[in-house]
Amino acid sequence: MIIEKAKEILSKYPLCDNCLGRQFGGLIRGVTNKERGQAIKLVLALEGHLDFMKGNDEILKILATNGAFQPANKIIGSQIKEFKCYICENFMSKLEEYAKEIINRLSEYEYDTFLIGVRILGEVAEREDKLRSEFGIEYGESIRMECSREIGKIISRITGKSVNFKKPDIIVIVELPKFNISIKPMPIYIFGRYRKLVRGIPQSKWYCSKCRGKGCERCNWTGKMYPTSVEELIAEPILKATKGKTAKFHGAGREDVDATVLGNGRPFVIEIKEPIIRKLDLSQLEKEINKNANGMIEVLGLKYSDKNTVRKLKERAKIAEKTYRVLVEVSREINEEDLEKIEKSFSGCTIDQYTPTRVLHRRADKLRKKKVYEIKTKKVGDRMMELIVRCQGGLYVKELVSGDGGRTKPSIAEVLGADAKCIELDVISVKEDV
Ligand SMILES: [Zn+2]
Ligand SMILES: [Zn+2]
Repeated sequence: MIIEKAKEILSKYPLCDNCLGRQFGGLIRGVTNKERGQAIKLVLALEGHLDFMKGNDEILKILATNGAFQPANKIIGSQIKEFKCYICENFMSKLEEYAKEIINRLSEYEYDTFLIGVRILGEVAEREDKLRSEFGIEYGESIRMECSREIGKIISRITGKSVNFKKPDIIVIVELPKFNISIKPMPIYIFGRYRKLVRGIPQSKWYCSKCRGKGCERCNWTGKMYPTSVEELIAEPILKATKGKTAKFHGAGREDVDATVLGNGRPFVIEIKEPIIRKLDLSQLEKEINKNANGMIEVLGLKYSDKNTVRKLKERAKIAEKTYRVLVEVSREINEEDLEKIEKSFSGCTIDQYTPTRVLHRRADKLRKKKVYEIKTKKVGDRMMELIVRCQGGLYVKELVSGDGGRTKPSIAEVLGADAKCIELDVISVKEDV
């Protein structure tokens, strides 16, 4: 049945071993299409030889011309003709060559695992489809699958590195038959915590609102509102170490430009896109970042992470417990009673908070309900007090103090019946369990 079909196909179309074998690629695992093709041609040749002894050279002739099957030529005494496979036009015989060139191109990258993706361009696939419908082929494999698997096998054999479908370090897209290669190293993710030791640094790079990054008089031709940011201070040394293309900073929430982050720091994950170097000495890198940042920020606990952690970090940040130190100025003198009242009214209190007026231009106006677990108070001047606020993530603390014209309720100002203003804000703890 298979032999009959193969004879039929070959009598009409010249096919290389791979392309013939692939038409039966779904049958018997653990052999290559090339081996399938060779085996089919060999069995056909045995039959052909019997026929030949009876005076019929039909099969051997087919094999000699359309099968590029050398032993058939020898028996019937014909010369080898120039052979061109109907489907692949012989590029399947160059897979080894392609693989070697890919290895060559990959040599500048650091990787342990890889994945080969193949795109078949032009009319190759159409010719194969046509042949399959003409002969009712049901157990064929796609040429794309064969190429990616076989190239992957050769690269593995030569380099000792392994193919990984789920999480490869690097992806190589190969376009055939033209043989264009594009290499895409997968991003690396590094988790850590940062402490921001000085005020006046935004978390992420903040483009100039006038020129939007192009550079103008207002931003002193830097394109930025602030000379640096937590993101830049962390990303630059890592980009240098990895020779990566770009970095993306994911923080577990963010603080205001004028707030510091102390204590155990705020968790973050930095994503490095298209890195050339992947294996880093993270404790060395930590020192490098801290030295460069010159006392502005500090990172701790760097470790390798993944994309999943980024998602968890963002979700958790909305509710994860935060502790702030807030310096508050009140419009009248404060007494012991005031302090007691604050501690009592905010213990386990739920705050109704509409989007603060100061961010309303870039955030939708909506009501949030956030918990304050506890506030500890300390008088530090006639009209000054220090608060330690332990609350749910996502609460705007400056507005908890001022009341934001009634948009945050209750507030320190409301409880005191006086104006209250946040003078200094420090994040002193961010809980995190990712
Ligand atoms: Zn072929
Ligand atoms: Zn500007």
